Amino acid sequence: MPGKTRVPEFKGKELEYYNALMKVRNQLSGQIQGGIDSLDCTNTEKRGVTTHMADVSSDNFRHEMELQMLTENGNTVKLIDDAIERLVNGEYGICMECGERISEARLMARPYAVFCIKCKSRHEEMMKNR
Ligand SMILES: [Zn+2]
Repeated sequence: MPGKTRVPEFKGKELEYYNALMKVRNQLSGQIQGGIDSLDCTNTEKRGVTTHMADVSSDNFRHEMELQMLTENGNTVKLIDDAIERLVNGEYGICMECGERISEARLMARPYAVFCIKCKSRHEEMMKNR
C-alpha cells in the first residue's frame, strides 16, 4: 500500500481499543523523550569530571541500561503502531499464533497484545525452561 495510513474512523469497541492504544502510546512517547533528556543531562554533567576507569565503566553500564529501557519502550510503540494497523484492517484482537480472539479484559489491560493469554503463558513457560 503506497502512502501513509489514512486516519481511520473507529466506532464502538474499535474506538475504545484505539483510544486505549493511543493513551499508552502517548505515555511511552513522553517517557522516551524524558529518557533522552536525562541521558543528555547525565553526559554533560559527567563530561570532564570522570577520569577513573571504574567510573567510566559503571557509567557506560548505566548508559546501556537506560538505552535498553528506551529501546523496550520503542518496541512497545512499534507494537502499538502495528496494533492500530490491525485495527484498521479488522484483524485486531486476534492471536497471531492460534488465531483465537484475545479476551477483551486482556486487550484493555494490554491493548497492544498480539497473543492470547494461552499462547502468551506458553511462551513464558518456554522462556523459563530455557
Ligand atoms: Zn493464541
